[in-house]
Amino acid sequence: MKHVLVTGGAGYIGSVVCQTLLERGHSIVVLDSLEEGHRQALPPKGIFFQGDLGDESLLKNIFKSYPLEAVLHLAAYCQVGESVEDPEKYYGNNVSKGLVLLRNMRTFGIKKIVFSSTAAVYGEPLSTPIAETHPTQPLNPYGHSKLIFEQVLDWYQKAYGFKYVTFRYFNAAGAIDRLGEDHHPETHLTPLVLREGVPLTVFGLDYPTPDGSCIRDYIHVRDLALAHVLALERLDDLRERIFNLGNGQGFSVLEVIEAAAQVRGRKIPFRPGERRRGDPAVLVASSAQARKILGWEPQYPDLKEIIASAWRWHQKFPRGYES
Ligand code: UDP
Repeated sequence: MKHVLVTGGAGYIGSVVCQTLLERGHSIVVLDSLEEGHRQALPPKGIFFQGDLGDESLLKNIFKSYPLEAVLHLAAYCQVGESVEDPEKYYGNNVSKGLVLLRNMRTFGIKKIVFSSTAAVYGEPLSTPIAETHPTQPLNPYGHSKLIFEQVLDWYQKAYGFKYVTFRYFNAAGAIDRLGEDHHPETHLTPLVLREGVPLTVFGLDYPTPDGSCIRDYIHVRDLALAHVLALERLDDLRERIFNLGNGQGFSVLEVIEAAAQVRGRKIPFRPGERRRGDPAVLVASSAQARKILGWEPQYPDLKEIIASAWRWHQKFPRGYES
């Protein structure tokens, strides 16, 4: 059993990570500002602090009070489009406040961290599927802010003996029992295809893909969470530290809409729109490294099954956690 701090543990991915850690017998402390996260998504067991990642005195209080061995750092802003409009928000939170976390980890001698990064670090892929060795040239401040923090961790490893794992998530989707995706405003495709009365816009039908819409690699949120548990248990002895997490199969926006239509048993109306700034045409992972080194194997690789799990959650919570 490990004692871990989960930042962003009330968020979409963070809440499923917390639930999975508890199921595996680990003990958790959650730090979340609830700016994006939801109180209802917190685990019924576990200790929760509402607060900001950059709040030094709160961090000190947490590290002083609990025998924490590692941090799972998921707290971040994560909207590509918004990051292009307001880069300061992204560098301020995803980089500067992250540094406050690292400084306090050092102060308290905690040097193990699992960091949530993103496929957006790669930018427009030169080859597909993308391996971890692919060059990183992010097209937006969100991806860039994550890449900077990845590099910070690498220097902290060299200088201070930090042990880290960085996960580059592809497109998280799906839900487990009481935990699902609920952002305000919602900008992500997979929850939007399940909404009633919200007109869906397809951002670009002129990409160099078979149907003209962007292709992404959708991965079940439970599978992401399972990778975190594996990494936590192996942090000491890993040589490779950066892992893609995806299914290795790409689906276009139109294919996602079609899969959702099959799950819901009805057509999903959409209209063509402009390209969204900062969007690469295709992002598909090679997760060979995570499979080989962490022994990670996605349990729910089927797109329809992923969307069906999100649909079940949506039916239980039609207005998100508010319901
Ligand atoms: N997308 C879309 N309409 C929407 C939201 C998203 O066409 O209302 C597209 C978006 O351009 C991207 C894909 O769906 O190609 C997945 O976007 P999302 O925001 O869900 O995740 P991201 O790839 O930005 O992490």
